[in-house]
Amino acid sequence: MKLFINGSCHCEANEFRVEVDNPSLPVSDSLCHCNVCRHATGQIAARFAQIVGVPLERIYETGSRGGSENGDEEDNGSGLKVAITPSSENGFLAPPVIEIDYPKDSFNLGGLTAYKSSSDVTRYFCSSCSSHLFRVQHTVHGDRWGVAVGSLEKGGRVSKISSHIWVRDTLDGGLADHLTAIDGVRVSRYEGALGSKELRHPWKHDSLLSTSQSSGNDSLKARCHCGSIQFTITRPSEASFEPFAPFPDLLFSHLYSHLSKISNPKDTKWWLCPAASPNPSKYLAGHCLCNVCRLNSGFAIQSWAFVPLVNIVQGDSSNPLSLDDGDGRPMHLKQYITSTGNYREFCDICGATAFSWQAAVPSLISVSVGLLDEAENGARAENWLEWHKTRIGFQESAQDQSLARGLLEGLAQA
Ligand SMILES: [Zn+2]
Ligand SMILES: [Zn+2]
Ligand SMILES: [Zn+2]
Repeated sequence: MKLFINGSCHCEANEFRVEVDNPSLPVSDSLCHCNVCRHATGQIAARFAQIVGVPLERIYETGSRGGSENGDEEDNGSGLKVAITPSSENGFLAPPVIEIDYPKDSFNLGGLTAYKSSSDVTRYFCSSCSSHLFRVQHTVHGDRWGVAVGSLEKGGRVSKISSHIWVRDTLDGGLADHLTAIDGVRVSRYEGALGSKELRHPWKHDSLLSTSQSSGNDSLKARCHCGSIQFTITRPSEASFEPFAPFPDLLFSHLYSHLSKISNPKDTKWWLCPAASPNPSKYLAGHCLCNVCRLNSGFAIQSWAFVPLVNIVQGDSSNPLSLDDGDGRPMHLKQYITSTGNYREFCDICGATAFSWQAAVPSLISVSVGLLDEAENGARAENWLEWHKTRIGFQESAQDQSLARGLLEGLAQA
C-alpha cells in the first residue's frame, strides 16, 4: 500500500503531495541544528522527512479546487480512477492519507526558488511566501528528497521527531535543550549526523564556557545563509521603551484571555528583560506553534525574539533597519503579507525567514532567531534573549499537540 500525504505553503501557490515509505505511520525524522539549516531557514532548527521519489502533483478531491464539479468520480483526464478515502466530518478522525494507485506526476517546481546551500544540497522555497518545502541531497546514488514536515497536512501524525542532529553547531545545545522528550520518549541528541556521538544534557561548547555570561558584547550580529540579509541588534536603550504593544499570544492566549488584558492597558514593556527592570539588557524570546508561522516557514516551531526597530541596524553600518516601502529597505528582503496589516520579511535568495511585524505596531519587530550569530552566544543567544518558558505561542491550536506538550515540559526543566 502506498501512502500519500498532501502539503502546501502558506499562500497556496504550491500545493503538492508526497509518498512516504513507511507503511506504519508516523515515520521518524530529525531536527537539524546545523549552521546551514538555521541560517538558510531562519529557524532555530529545521526538520525534513525523507520521501519516496520526488514530490508529486496534488490530486484534488471531487468538488474541491481542481476537481470535477458535477460530483462524478474523480478523473484526472488520463482515464485512471483515483480512490480517495472520504474524510470524516470530525477532522480528527479523518485519515491523514489518501490511497491511490496512480502514475507519478512530478510536482512542477516553477513556483519555487531553488537555493544551493552546499555542493550536495539544494533547497526549494515558495517564491511568494517563502515557505521552505523541499531539501534535496545529491548523492552518488541519485537525489534524495526530503519534505519540510510543517508543510504537511496532519504533519505531527505523519512524522515524529526522534533525534536532534548537528547539535554541536549550536554551541549551547540550541532548541535541543528545550525539547528533550515527546510523549515520554527521549529525543536523542547527536553531536553531528544521525548515529554520531551523543551529547550529554546539558552541554555547552568549551568556547562558550570560557566566556562569562555577563561579559556580553554590545552588539549581536545576524545573517541569512547567503549573506544578503545582515543586521545587528544593539542592547536595550531608552528608546527601546517607546513602543506601545499589546501582549503577544506567547504571554496571554489570544483565544482564552479577555481583550482588556491582551490590550496591555498598563503599557507594560513586556519585550524588555528582566521584566520591570529600569535597566533591561535582554529581549524576550519564545516559540510559536501557530499555523500561519508553520505554513509560512514550512516548520512547526518558529522562534521569535521581540526587538524594537530602533535596536536593529543594517549590516555593520549605523543605519537603522527600514522596513518601509521604499529605497531604505535591504535589497534582497522580500515582503509577504500573511493577512491585512501582518507582514513577513524573508531573503529572496536563500529563503530565510527574517522578520514579522504588524502595521499597528511598526516599532516592535519579531526577529527570527535562526539568523542570530551563534559564534559568541550560542544559537539560543541567552546573553541577549530571555526565553519564555511557561507558554508557547498559540499552543492550543498547534497542529502537533504532542510536540507542544513536549516543548512545554522541556522548557519547564530548562
Ligand atoms: Zn507560498
Ligand atoms: Zn506564529
Ligand atoms: Zn539569504
